[in-house]
Amino acid sequence: MTKKRADNTLMRTINRSLILRHLRTADGLSRADLAGRTGLMRSTVSSLVDELLAENVIHETGIAPSRGGRRGTLLDLNPAGGCAIGVEITSQAVLVLLADFVAQPRWQQTITLADHDPAVVIPQTEQLITEALRFNAAHDTMNPLGIGVGIAGLVDTVDGTLKVAANLGWRDIPFKTLWERQFRLPVHVGNEASIAAQGEHYLGAAMGYTDFVYLHISRTAIGAGIFINGELYQGMGGYAGEVGHMVIDPAGERCSCGKRGCWEVQLRAALKTVTGSLEQIKKQPNHPRMLPVITVLATGIANLINIFNPQLIVLGGPLGVALAPFLATIQNTTADQITVPGDSMAEIVVSQIEAKACVMGAVALILDDVLRQQAW
Ligand SMILES: [Zn+2]
Repeated sequence: MTKKRADNTLMRTINRSLILRHLRTADGLSRADLAGRTGLMRSTVSSLVDELLAENVIHETGIAPSRGGRRGTLLDLNPAGGCAIGVEITSQAVLVLLADFVAQPRWQQTITLADHDPAVVIPQTEQLITEALRFNAAHDTMNPLGIGVGIAGLVDTVDGTLKVAANLGWRDIPFKTLWERQFRLPVHVGNEASIAAQGEHYLGAAMGYTDFVYLHISRTAIGAGIFINGELYQGMGGYAGEVGHMVIDPAGERCSCGKRGCWEVQLRAALKTVTGSLEQIKKQPNHPRMLPVITVLATGIANLINIFNPQLIVLGGPLGVALAPFLATIQNTTADQITVPGDSMAEIVVSQIEAKACVMGAVALILDDVLRQQAW
């Protein structure tokens, strides 16, 4: 291919992707709206739209309201434009979900894990993926675009290998290689918190934000997914976001990693004073027993705000979501500890997709990749 042709192809791919991403986040746009929003020429938009319509990736949904001139046909992503499979693996359960091109779930199934032996759990998970693909073939016959996998552990995102999942007792499982061979689909693997951050960015609390930190908080661990300039920050080996082992008290409790006073071990210690279920305590947002928990959380969150100056902090994971009644207290306690100017203080919110953040993030990972690269 000559350089000029290669440049033209690249430009076309970028422009197609631009149109698709505008259609994804809007509720129906005409060709004129698209030209206005993307800055592309009307003729370029028309030609690309014709191409995307022919591929069934977008469809016409109605007529735009009149604004004096000719009324345009509204365009939107076609839900049947393709499907993605999301897989979430935690120490408690495996969840497999099939979603259409607009990330609406079409099929899902969970297995509760009694046994953590990967020789048992992995074939069971593969069975669920096969069932999801069969369901699609029998009902919607959408083009399968890929499998996204979110797993609680350290993941090498470059080669898609789970390095260590301490809670499952798993090591060195090359999910990407295994499943790309078996299912003949692209497979992306990521750590639970990073993947959930993708989910919040694609369709949850962080939609439209470019700089935010998603925190997956459970009673025993804290992980983060960090977005910088609209992209997930992965780090050199893909391990970024291990914020739970940020030391907040060098004289604190001993952590499983060998250090003292890691953020997550201090949280665990603070939670010991919280007797009664979170459900009971949630009904009393000013409950004094929650103060040590809030202080520990605010210290770590303030560190993250001082380092990243994000627009938003999203609290997710079972404990993070349960903290909704305490948001104002967390926000105030954090604000006391930040050094960035007060008007640059991040807003702290709770996950909008809660329990499904990770599996929806796994779906989003595939759909976003397709929308960006148009790789089919
Ligand atoms: Zn630690």
